[in-house]
Amino acid sequence: MKVMKPSIMDYTREELEAVVKPKFRAKQIFGWVYHHYVESFEEMKNIPKKLQENLSQKFVVNPLKIVNKEISSDGTIKYLFELSDGKTVESVWIKMKDALYDEKGKLLHEAKYSVCVSTQVGCKVGCSFCLTAKGGFTRDLTAGEIVAQVVSLKKDNDHAHNRITNIVYMGMGEPLDNLDNLAKAIKILKDQDGLAISAKRQTVSTSGLSTKIDKLGKMDLGVHIAISLHAVDDELRTELIPMNKAHNINSIIEAVKRYPIDTRKRVMFEYLVIKNKNDDVSSAKKLVKLLAGIKAKVNLIYFNPYPGTQYERPDKEDMLKFQDYLTSHGVLCTIRDSKGIDISAACGQLKEKVQTKG
Ligand code: SAH
Ligand code: SF4
Repeated sequence: MKVMKPSIMDYTREELEAVVKPKFRAKQIFGWVYHHYVESFEEMKNIPKKLQENLSQKFVVNPLKIVNKEISSDGTIKYLFELSDGKTVESVWIKMKDALYDEKGKLLHEAKYSVCVSTQVGCKVGCSFCLTAKGGFTRDLTAGEIVAQVVSLKKDNDHAHNRITNIVYMGMGEPLDNLDNLAKAIKILKDQDGLAISAKRQTVSTSGLSTKIDKLGKMDLGVHIAISLHAVDDELRTELIPMNKAHNINSIIEAVKRYPIDTRKRVMFEYLVIKNKNDDVSSAKKLVKLLAGIKAKVNLIYFNPYPGTQYERPDKEDMLKFQDYLTSHGVLCTIRDSKGIDISAACGQLKEKVQTKG
């Protein structure tokens, strides 16, 4: 069996300082990995040959290989990565805002991007609407495999290390079910000597493991949370997200209220709208009540159908009515525009396509 070397991206700077001596080498290595995006230790020019060789025997730099890429007309790019054990995960490079120029052609601001990264191969939560869930759970990603998705996406898009990047942990898997590796990845990505992506620019999306929301809050990392609520009563929510039995709506709302939220920010509630299931105004009414007292923002998502699903995409009219009800009752609400719709942007769908090809 092939022996898998760990990635250098699994290491926080403090951990690396304990491995390479003298200490300042860790900072230099961080620079090569996160500022220059090098793929091998031989490229680290100011690192002594002996140490380069030593490191190459023990580690790989980037543990991911791009095996597929789908480019959407709106600038969204969906990647399929192969991990060192041959398993695959997806990440998405999302253009949030176009670059802006004045009438003389002077650049006012550059285009803004977000990366959507995976935290597990598959998922244990088993939501009935989610394609990732269909394949069951295979394994957690390591911190390095999470970090490497961000590095690879930036590198592949020639995006300099110091250009602003937002991260959403919203790809395949349930981030809070892999909390230790997630927390480590957040710290590595935040490091001032690395990509320096502030925790304020990182959002963890969760299907609502309420006890883990508390745990994440206690870690005090400063990251935002997005709650995949999707339903306003426990019966429907349990149909959609089976673990709602153990972590019901009330327990999630209570955990959100305890979560340390930046006072200028809002907690995002994702609401996947499914035709004839949760797209009626009476659901919107209940949602307003449920969110009373929380500085919340609701993001309505069109259910994105795939072959074999029992659910349907909602009508635009119903989406707009739902949104209207929320906004007119004081709840901020956006509709997630269909970024990358022509490349099937919902999680799990690219992987499915590739696997059914061969
Ligand atoms: N496990 C976490 C994060 C990954 S899922 C969570 O559930 O929040 C990321 C998002 O993709 C979730 O908000 C989920 O509701 C959404 N999603 C899954 N399947 C979808 C589909 N078929 N159409 C639209 N969104 C989908
Ligand atoms: Fe897992 Fe999120 Fe998909 Fe549910 S929606 S199965 S929690 S990845």
